[in-house]
Amino acid sequence: MTRHLTRRDFARVTASLAAAPAAAFSRGRDFPLVDYHVHVEREMTIEKALKIAAERRVKIGVAEHGGCAEEMRDDAGLRRYIERLSPYPVYKGMQAEGLDWARCFSKEAISELDFVLSDALTFPEKDGRRVRLWTQEAKIGDKQDFMERYVDFNVRVIATEPIDIFANPTFLPEAIVGEYDTLWTAGRMKRVIDAAVEHEVAIEINALYRIPSLAFLRTAKDAGVKFSFGSNTHGDGIGKLDYCLEMAKTLGLSSKHMFSPASRESKPVMRRAAG
Ligand SMILES: [Zn+2]
Repeated sequence: MTRHLTRRDFARVTASLAAAPAAAFSRGRDFPLVDYHVHVEREMTIEKALKIAAERRVKIGVAEHGGCAEEMRDDAGLRRYIERLSPYPVYKGMQAEGLDWARCFSKEAISELDFVLSDALTFPEKDGRRVRLWTQEAKIGDKQDFMERYVDFNVRVIATEPIDIFANPTFLPEAIVGEYDTLWTAGRMKRVIDAAVEHEVAIEINALYRIPSLAFLRTAKDAGVKFSFGSNTHGDGIGKLDYCLEMAKTLGLSSKHMFSPASRESKPVMRRAAG
């Protein structure tokens, strides 16, 4: 499922790497490396995750799934999770599921987390079915029609959910990922970026799928969007942020462009009206 760069993409990225001023990087990175999208589940224990992250000199943010229909679905569950992570030097996060997740927790409990992220990968089809776009369930009929509905849904996630980070941005299902550069038109990118700016949501640079594209990131940076890095992995990929670093270097990202957890009072759930 990883989005491989085409040969042409590779040539373009390499050329821009050579040409970019990347001023911040030429003096060394001025922000700490954090992987804000780590899943500690199945065989991956927190101890193992920390060991891998330490080898890569990356701090991790654990993103346990939470939502009204998830195992972690109320304040008691959320606080048990926070308690469980408290002995460890990690950011405590949640990957929120469903547009309505914020209704199942109190604002106070949510604000005890360092961050909440969400994505647009569980996509409501016309008949109401929720389709997991990263699986074979995703059947794309009319590509343009899909893109219009998908961009609408991206905007809805960002506008409705009080999240810190929009994860897996611009992800496309396997069947159409080869047409990424054509389907993500400037107008469609702008709609997602405008929503992120309006609602002060950071955009993840995702190492697993190697998204968003450089073109998207460049526009987002110019619009003042903040970025986080995320591996979105359970296993060996923890803290493996090659694509993020490549993009950060090309774009000359520095600390002022990077997401960091807000104080409790200024968490999205506090500053945004409950949906
Ligand atoms: Zn995830």
